[in-house]
Amino acid sequence: MTELLKPEAVETGAGQLKAASVDRFRKYTAVHGIYDGPIPAAIVYPESTADVAAVLRFADENLINVVPRTGRTATEGGLETVVEDSLVLDGSRMNAILSIDPVDMMATTQCGVRLQELEDTLRAQGLTTGHSPQSKPLAQMGGLVATRSIGQLSTLYGGIEDMVVGLESVFPGGKVTRIKNVPRRAAGPDIRHIIIGSEGALCFITEVTVKLFRHQPENNRYFGFLVDEFAHGIAAVRELITAGYRPSVCRVYSPEDARQHFADLYQGKNVVVLIAEGPKGLADATAAAIEELFAGRPHRRVDSGLIRQWFENLNWGQDKIDAERAAMLENAHLGFTTEISVDWSRASDLFEAVMGRIRSEFPRAGDLTMLGAHSSHSYQTGTNLYFVYDYTINSSPREEIEVYHKPLNAIIVEEALRMGGSMVHHHGVGKYRTAWVRQEHGSAYYLLSTLKNTFDPNGVMNAGTIIPLEPGLSACESAG
Ligand SMILES: Cc1cc2nc3c(=O)[nH]c(=O)nc-3n(C[C@H](O)[C@H](O)[C@H](O)COP(=O)(O)OP(=O)(O)OC[C@H]3O[C@@H](n4cnc5c(N)ncnc54)[C@H](O)[C@@H]3O)c2cc1C
Repeated sequence: MTELLKPEAVETGAGQLKAASVDRFRKYTAVHGIYDGPIPAAIVYPESTADVAAVLRFADENLINVVPRTGRTATEGGLETVVEDSLVLDGSRMNAILSIDPVDMMATTQCGVRLQELEDTLRAQGLTTGHSPQSKPLAQMGGLVATRSIGQLSTLYGGIEDMVVGLESVFPGGKVTRIKNVPRRAAGPDIRHIIIGSEGALCFITEVTVKLFRHQPENNRYFGFLVDEFAHGIAAVRELITAGYRPSVCRVYSPEDARQHFADLYQGKNVVVLIAEGPKGLADATAAAIEELFAGRPHRRVDSGLIRQWFENLNWGQDKIDAERAAMLENAHLGFTTEISVDWSRASDLFEAVMGRIRSEFPRAGDLTMLGAHSSHSYQTGTNLYFVYDYTINSSPREEIEVYHKPLNAIIVEEALRMGGSMVHHHGVGKYRTAWVRQEHGSAYYLLSTLKNTFDPNGVMNAGTIIPLEPGLSACESAG
């Protein structure tokens, strides 16, 4: 590998390699120093598209599995190196903001630019991408595109798939592809979507161009309402959204989930949080529609200053990750999440079905210290539900995933699919929802397996991600 890249671009330290074999799905075992899976052979840090192409050519020729990564905030096993002697291809040193264009309203970055850095640079110029995932301080542009990420302001600005104008990627064998930046095209299917959400299983994303918007926080209006039933909150936001309003933040928290966010104000109720944003006329019109909506519904009003304060402290940087690690070690206690999407008409039923099944079927229900959910991204046809579960581990650390995380995740995914929803709203399939990927796509799974077989015929890109790895078969044979 040092013949392809500079020696300092190759990391083989034992500690680094162990840490690179997992992601946050295994955060509990990792904090206890347990790394049972294959450990990668090396981590390589390309500095250019040419470096990436050289590595992917070498890997394809030598049938070496490559696991792309950037910000390392993945939560679903996308970074796990499940094949012996994998190479981890880390784009975090490709970290230049290449251009900011305030006329054509686009910014272009290399894959390793942290979103926080891009946003800080843009906001100093009165601009924003509108992208604000909770992982903004750590996540980088390549990973954000590869996972089809979504941010807290999605109802106004959309998910990353609505923001990407064009991008450059390298495919197995070293083939560099650039999708140019144009306002719209009808030149066949939208090929950006082959790459957006591909989770490192088809290609390596090297460069991304996203849209820009004006940043006008002075117009923001913050709202909080307490309502008696989760279904009442969902019905209220459904009415607002389907009427055509687009608050940037649009959330409904169940009381259990609200307790951990709004302990001082939730009064045992469900909490609806809304932010009106944009040019003054638009923000005022959205705010007026919110006032009118709740005037006709039973509710208690929350001080908007408290909602603003909560929102400004929502994101997770390294400090919160470190605090979580310390707490996991001290208390044998942790939290995980599973996010799905569903049509409006089934959202409240799905919430009740999941809560009911977990309480009655999960053998370790007594170890749950919190089980709740919120809706945080809404659309004309439906919404997401983000289930949140915390538990105390009364097993050995090694058993945490099998005894707690997997069974809880399975109930949520099964219920979402049973109700016709999607098993994954924004964290990606990773390696832990692959068991349901055929059921998720039905007859359209043919399209997905054909993409894998066509673009990665030797199965060297992030094997076991999106498409399950069948025992004894290569990634492409597994795709079927
Ligand atoms: C505290 C916390 C909060 C989060 N909040 C949100 C949220 O609000 N919204 C949301 O959508 N997600 C959220 N996530 C999940 C995660 O942060 C996002 O999915 C993020 O987009 C991952 O970006 P990353 O740079 O960290 O990617 P990584 O973790 O490095 O990689 C993620 C996946 O993308 C692939 N990948 C990475 N870089 C590339 C590349 N250059 N080319 C091809 N494939 C690549 C990897 O192989 C992996 O499968 C959160 C995670 C944490 C830990």
